[in-house]
Formats: sequence, C-alpha cells, structure tokens
Amino acid sequence: MQNYLDQLNEAQRAPTVHKDGPLMVIAGAGSGKTRVLTYRIAYLMSQGVDPFNILALTFTNKAAREMKKRIAEIVGNSEAKNLWMGTFHSIFARILRFEADKLGYPSNFTIYDTQDSQSLIRSIIKEMRLDKDIYKYKQVYSRISSYKNSLITVRAYFNNPELVEADAMARMPRMGDIYKEYVDRCFKAGAMDFDDLLLKTNELLTRFPEVLAKYQNRFRYILVDEYQDTNHSQYLIVRALSDRFQNICVVGDDAQSIYAFRGANINNILNFQKDYDNVSVYRLEQNYRSTKTIVRAANSLIEKNQSRLEKVVWTANDQGNPIKVNRSMTDADEGRFVAGSIFENQMNLQMQHKEFAVLYRTNAQSRAIEDALRKKDIPYRIYGGLSFYQRKEIKDVLAYLRLILNPSDEEALKRVINYPARGIGQTTVDKIVVAANERGVSMFEVMEQLQQNPINVNKGTQTKLENFVTMIRSFQVTNEQVDAFHIAEQVAKKTGLVQELKKDGTPEGIARIENIEELLNGIRDFVEGQKELADTTGSLTEFLEDVALATDLDNEKGDDNRVALMTVHLAKGLEFPFVYVVGMEEDLFPSAMNLNSRSELEEERRLFYVALTRAEKQAYLTYAQTRYRWGKLIDAEPSRFLDEIDEQYLDYLTPITETRFKPMIDADIFGEVDKSKLRLKKPVSGTPPKMPISAGTRKLRKVKPASSSPSNGASTPKVNLEVGNRVEHQRFGKGKVLKIEGVGADVKAEIQFEQGGLKKLLLRFAKLNVL
Ligand code: ATP
Ligand code: MG
Repeated sequence: MQNYLDQLNEAQRAPTVHKDGPLMVIAGAGSGKTRVLTYRIAYLMSQGVDPFNILALTFTNKAAREMKKRIAEIVGNSEAKNLWMGTFHSIFARILRFEADKLGYPSNFTIYDTQDSQSLIRSIIKEMRLDKDIYKYKQVYSRISSYKNSLITVRAYFNNPELVEADAMARMPRMGDIYKEYVDRCFKAGAMDFDDLLLKTNELLTRFPEVLAKYQNRFRYILVDEYQDTNHSQYLIVRALSDRFQNICVVGDDAQSIYAFRGANINNILNFQKDYDNVSVYRLEQNYRSTKTIVRAANSLIEKNQSRLEKVVWTANDQGNPIKVNRSMTDADEGRFVAGSIFENQMNLQMQHKEFAVLYRTNAQSRAIEDALRKKDIPYRIYGGLSFYQRKEIKDVLAYLRLILNPSDEEALKRVINYPARGIGQTTVDKIVVAANERGVSMFEVMEQLQQNPINVNKGTQTKLENFVTMIRSFQVTNEQVDAFHIAEQVAKKTGLVQELKKDGTPEGIARIENIEELLNGIRDFVEGQKELADTTGSLTEFLEDVALATDLDNEKGDDNRVALMTVHLAKGLEFPFVYVVGMEEDLFPSAMNLNSRSELEEERRLFYVALTRAEKQAYLTYAQTRYRWGKLIDAEPSRFLDEIDEQYLDYLTPITETRFKPMIDADIFGEVDKSKLRLKKPVSGTPPKMPISAGTRKLRKVKPASSSPSNGASTPKVNLEVGNRVEHQRFGKGKVLKIEGVGADVKAEIQFEQGGLKKLLLRFAKLNVL
C-alpha cells in the first residue's frame, strides 16, 4: 500500500497527490490519465477522505468496476466498496430513485431503453396520423434526445422560434407536438428514458436547493474520466455538484473527443479554466501503452487537425514493428486476411485470443470478419451488437417484471398484454390507449376500472383483460415476499412464456428457452451478490436498473478469452496488444456522413486516432477495393487517413489474394446479387483491377514484390533444427529444443525457454535463431 505512488512517474504523481481545488489533466492517449484518476482516489482515501464523499464518473460501468478493484488492492475492499463510482447514467439513476417523489415520479420508475423510447415515438406518430416517411421515428427520437441533452424542455422548445422554424423547414412542423406527447406519456407511464436520467437530475438540482446542498456536501471530491466527451447536460451536473467544494478533477484528451454527434462538447474541456478559479493544469507526456512506431504514427496523423491543443506524446517503449497495411480485393478477402493473420500471430507468438481486437467504423462491417473467424475456429465476441438483454425473449420476461413493479409502464404493457397470445387483439389495445389518453390515466388503470368505467369491448374480451390484471396483481403480492430470482422464475412459468417456446419446438425456440434460463441464472447471481452488500437487498428494482443501464462492455465475463470485435467508439479507453482497424476506405472511414465540414472530418480523424492508439504492440490497417454496402457492390478507395500517417511507420503488404490471382466474384459474399451484372461492372480476370486514382495510390506502388509468403510477412524458416539445439526466439528468449514433430508445413518444435517456459511452436511461423 505505502509504495503504490512509486508506480507512477513524477508527472503522474503531481495530479495524484494534488491537494484540494480544481485540477485538470490533459494528455494524449495511453499516458496514464485513467491510472492517475484511480490512484488519486486511493490517495485521497489514504489521506482520510471518506469514500462515501468521493464520486467518480467513468465511461462504462466496467471501467468503474476495474478501478474499484485496483483501489481495493491498495486500500482494502471494505472501504473501496463505499465509493460512488459508475457512469453518469447509473449514478444519477440511483440518486433519482431517492428523490423521485420530488419530481412527481414513483421511486420504482421504469427506465426506458432506446427500443422502448423508439417504439413509443412510433405509436405517437401513428396516433397523430402523421406521415411516417417524413416523421421517421429514429430521427424524431434523436432530435428529442438532442433537445434533452441541451436541456431544451418542451416549454423551452416552444419558446424558441428558431427551433420551431428549423423543424418546420425540415418538413416536421409537428415535431414539438410529438415531443410534448412523448414527454407526457413517459411521465404518465412512470418512465424515464436515458436522457431523462441527466435532464431530471439537472431539474432536481436546480429546482430544489436543499437537494443540491445535500449532494454537494456528500460529493466533496468529484472525478471525471474522458471529460472531453461529456455533453452539456452532464457538464451542468458536474458543475453544480462541485460548486461548493470545488474539488473537481477531470482528465481527458481533446484529441479523443468522438461524441460530438451525441452532443458532447469539446468546449467543456477548453473552458474548464474559465469555469473554476485557480485551476491547476497538469500534462502527461509519456505513453506507456504503445511502441514508438505506434505513438509516432498517431502523432503524425493527429497533427493534421487544425483545432487541437498542442501536446507532446512520446514513449520509452521499444520501437516495435511498422504498422502493417493490407489491401484486399473484397470485404470477404479482408475478413480472411484478418482471420489468417490473427491465427498466424497466435501461433507465432503464442498469444491468447483476447489479446486481439478488430475495430471498425460501423457495426455492419463485423459480418465478413465473423465469417472468416468462424471458418478458422477462432472464438470471438462482438460488443455493441444486440446485447443479451435486448433479445426478444429476454425483453418479454423483463417486461413482465417491469409491469409488476410499475403497472403504468406503457411499453412493457403493450409488449406482453397479448404475449403469449390470450386473445387481446390490436383493436382492443388501441381502444385502451385512446381511453387512457382521454382520461389522463395509465392503460393499466383503464383495465382495472372496466367494471365502473367500461370501454367499448365485448364481454369475452373484458374478462380476458380482467384476468390479465389479476395475474399481474397476484405477481405483485408474491413479489412482496420473495426475491428477484423467485419472482422471475414464477413469471417464466406462470405466464406461459416458456410453454409457448416449448410448443414452438424449433432450434430457435429451444435456444430462446436456454436464454431465459441464462437470465434466471443471472438474476440468481445478482441476488446472491447483492445480499453480500450491506446496503442492498437484491430486489427486483435493483436488478432491473442494473439491466437497463448495462452497456454491452459491462456484461463481459472475466474469463472470456476471445478476439474482441467492436466499433471504434466503443473501444475508447481500452487497450489490446494487437489491433486490426478494418475498412480503411473513403466514405467508410472517414464516414460519408461526416464529410460536410472540416469539423466533421476532424472528428473522424480523432476517431481514427483513438483506433490506432488502442494498440500496444502491433497495429494493422486494412481495406478492400470492393465492398458490399447497402445491398450493392461498390468500388472503394483507400482512406485518406492512410496517406496522412508518416509513411516511415507503414509497411504495405502484398495482398495475398492478388498473388493467388483469385477471381473477383466471391460466392459467399454476393449471395442474392445478380452476378451477371457484377461481371459487367468489373470483369473477372486473372489480373487485379486497376486501382482507383486516389491519394492512397501513390503509396500503393510501393508494395513489396509478390511472394508466396504468408500475409503478415512471416516466412518459412530456413532453419534445420534438431532436438538438443539451443535457439533464440524474439519474444521468449533463449531455450532448448526438446522435441520435433509433424511434417511439411505443420512441423512443430517443443522448446524449453529459460524465461518463457515450455512452448510448442509451429516452425513455419516461429522466428528462431539457432545459437
Ligand atoms: P486513454 O487516453 O486511451 O484513455 P490513458 O491516458 O487513460 O489512455 P491509461 O489507460 O491510464 O492511459 O494507461 C495506459 C497504459 O499504461 C495502462 O496499461 C497503464 O497501466 C499503463 N501505465 C500508465 N502509467 C504507467 C506507469 N507509470 N508505469 C507503468 N505503466 C503505466
Ligand atoms: Mg483512459
């Protein structure tokens, strides 16, 4: 414990042991910002600060958990447990539960996820009889979201002629009405959406000075990681809470600001010194993550941005290999290259799957990579796709659970009122919605009051509705007596959900049942875990909140040894020894959506900077000449970003596909497409098609001469190796050959390394010198 400060360099130690008052750490990627934040918390505790008085806000809950673990190693677990640590959303959801009544919400309010919000907006658009091709629900949702993140309430919206006019110009004059209806309906349903968790916190802190004072007193020390990506709403919360003690510590990197499209505001970092008095600004310059090559290459890239703070980043780490750039004919070839290269590197360097990451600009790109990894039996995990909790069968169970806690929850009710089928049709549901809107009550209340206040449905339907109400009510009674696991188990059985899937009998149906079982296991673990903590009970409310706010990264199991596939956005703050950035093509990365202004292009460049700086040892950049996008085959040009990296750090590989003269048309990617048309567009021939004329082409002339060597440059060793030889390996050092087995390309040697232990190496790839 005493010498943990020795694990920091001097520049890092200064902000770590900074006394009271505002401080900001601005530094490039991999320089230890997150480490400083973690150690600072441990330091504050060692100086007698009560962990209950420390609030740390992180980008994912997983990051918070890891920090807590590290801090626990230094200060002990029982104290570390009491820290307030998590994402903005999870921390403020917790606070809102305590204070919900002040805002007119029940303390067991539901949290609507994006799907719920979008589905509600879709019904509102339908109910208002608006043209759904003009009022696209996803677009409407993101507009509402951006209003909320800028703290533009419905009233503020209508008081702002510019906004009203802008929406009218965008052919959506009813935007404000939808916004109002959406907000009213969420309120009536006792639901908050993700943005509300911030908006309502702001409302709470501004409208109730005594509440503000209470939390200002509680959070005497506030720390924020990735400060460059806070939006206005988050900024105001931090600003308000830190106003009394001014013990605010933010760390960030303007060069990694990548969420402008979601309202993140880089000015939060730039204005920090204006917002607080006597700000201490610290800079870190030494990168501990990456090789010299990667650090310098990333520097040479980010220099191309005009708007940025001057920063120095250097590293004492090894030079490392050049960044490898690979061109493929098609996106399927690109997938094969990546899978092949991962396989080779694993064999060559005895690395684990989890030491590799494949990063892409858009989720759709994962498919070609997945196909190739599957064919090579390389286990992988996709982050940020449909998460477990968003699967249909899981959402169905969760909807019942939500309804038990909060019967006003309109989206949950609509989801399960007739699932499994119980003869309550859409017309009946529509009638309930209309009655609820007219009477200003929830749908569930309409259903409860059918005797006194009937709606226009026949007797049979009325009974079915009443039965549904009785079922939910009886679950509520049970819920008072049992924990979250037992209630969930009863729901799965008694609602007929599992029965329905069993009837289905297809492999998909069975997989769904298994998922429900998995959910129940998860709930049991949660309940047991929570019961160990003194301040929680493992209740259903707590479980649902955990689920609603889980980001995909959070669900990772510790022992998950798989190649990680994710978008660059999601990779922020993470690191991997080997990183493949795929789809380095114009209109893909940089994205065609972000080429309208310099500031958009600069955001794409920052995104690429984030991608590149995730790599510790080796980075690969790959692109394809043709890609299947939006259902069409298109020609692709190499990304301008390739040209922006100082070329001394790049090594252009000869695409393996070209050396083999592989025909252009690749059956497994074109699927349904009419191949005759494709041939017209690009004749199949033995020679590669001409490269499009672009910035990238200049460098491509420098490709190495074609050879049959494997694509990552490893070559067949010309070593006549014998048992008993002393050898040296670039990573494992010196060792002795114990055994040689296999033939041809599969010859393996078992080598006892002095430092690295016993290893079996495929000689085709192993870089060995006989001593
Ligand atoms: P990013 O900008 O990507 O979020 P960061 O600035 O937060 O990066 P960290 O993740 O804190 O950087 O650190 C990068 C890596 O360097 C981590 O693996 C960390 O443990 C290691 N590291 C940082 N400082 C030191 C140090 N003084 N000694 C040894 N390792 C260090
Ligand atoms: Mg970090």
